[in-house]
Amino acid sequence: MKNIVLARLLDKSISSFTTSPPIGILCLKTVLRKEFPKNNYIFFDNSVLKEEQIKFTQLLKPISPCIILFSITYTERDLLKKYANIAKKINKNNIIIAGGSGITCSPEEYKDYIDIDSICSGQAENTIINIFNDIKNNKLKNIYKQDYNLKIQIPTPDWENFNFNNYSYLPCNNNLLKKTPYAPVMAQRGCPFNCPFCNSILGNKINSRKIDSIIEELKNLKNKGVREIHIADDTFNISLDYAKNFLLQIIKENLNFSISFQGLRIENTDYELFELMKKAGGYYYEFGIQHIDSVLLNNISRQVNVSDINKKLLISSKLGLISEGHFMYNLPEETYSQHKENFKFAKKLPIDFATFFKFTPFPGTSIGNKYINNFKKIPSNSFHFYNTDKRLNISNMTNNELITINKNAYKDYYYRTSKILSLLKKIPKNSITIKRILNTIIK
Ligand code: SF4
Repeated sequence: MKNIVLARLLDKSISSFTTSPPIGILCLKTVLRKEFPKNNYIFFDNSVLKEEQIKFTQLLKPISPCIILFSITYTERDLLKKYANIAKKINKNNIIIAGGSGITCSPEEYKDYIDIDSICSGQAENTIINIFNDIKNNKLKNIYKQDYNLKIQIPTPDWENFNFNNYSYLPCNNNLLKKTPYAPVMAQRGCPFNCPFCNSILGNKINSRKIDSIIEELKNLKNKGVREIHIADDTFNISLDYAKNFLLQIIKENLNFSISFQGLRIENTDYELFELMKKAGGYYYEFGIQHIDSVLLNNISRQVNVSDINKKLLISSKLGLISEGHFMYNLPEETYSQHKENFKFAKKLPIDFATFFKFTPFPGTSIGNKYINNFKKIPSNSFHFYNTDKRLNISNMTNNELITINKNAYKDYYYRTSKILSLLKKIPKNSITIKRILNTIIK
């Protein structure tokens, strides 16, 4: 029997640090347990631990040599180096494999990481089996890439012995929580929009799970005490029929979860969808607008139809759903006055929450490759949506202007009596939510 550590890393030095259960690596655990049932699988997540590097050492010492699979986003590029080094120092025969969106967007950067034995680019459900067979046969390669001709059967994450409570009291990816514990659930992978700044690894073809299988997962989560679900799809309503059928099934099963939706395409909503969301237990959804300026939007392959969006937001609001719109600043060649117009627009829109992210150019994206010369020179923990790193300024604004936006956008948006009163009426009344909202406003 071999010991296999599945490790998710998050860089906690970031002020806007958030976490939620890592469904990607838990899906791999399901695949590995099925294909190689004799191994012992151990899950490690530094984001929910204190003194995490000491705990990682304590975990590895008695089980080395072992195989360690790291999953990272690009923000953890530098942190991965530290963890891989710890693992090799404990035992040089530990085998280290790294994957996730942080590897996929820039695989060549990891060539110099001497402590990493192999990297895995793309979704790993099929590739991981080849990797494990190659390890068995002493033929491990330096790099493995997803074969896009092979369909991935999206597995259910391995929720066996998973401690959901660890995640219910930390800054999670949602601004709101109605009930705890919660779990993220992914119904579909992929998004067809090909935004030139997107560094998702889930591909541009939609890969939908069978609704029956998701319902089974939901029942299992219910039995484990989970009371809230976050639908983590990039665009849950990419197919309106699929989204509605899924919601109908939840209503039929009377599962009684509270539900939030982390990615809706607002243009592709209608009254029936919002009504079903509400009936199924939905209370909160997020969607991206990014900007109102048509030239800037054109640069990022987006369009906005203001009257249509307004109409749809009013419908969802009447049904009592809480909405959150995402906006960006630091778009390629954006000026301060264009940002001001965008901010004014955000304030007028009938939404409950607004986020103002600094547009961040990632490697492997067409905008990132166009504007950034040498990603390696920039610390990886600068690559987040509230960074103040002037090397990531791709707008026509000064860095001071970007910092001013970063400091003031949330205050200017939320410090209004009408806004505060309307939020107090609508938000779930619990200490976690109030704390999170205060964090958002004070950001
Ligand atoms: S809509 Fe979102 S997930 Fe889809 S391509 Fe654009 S950024 Fe990526």
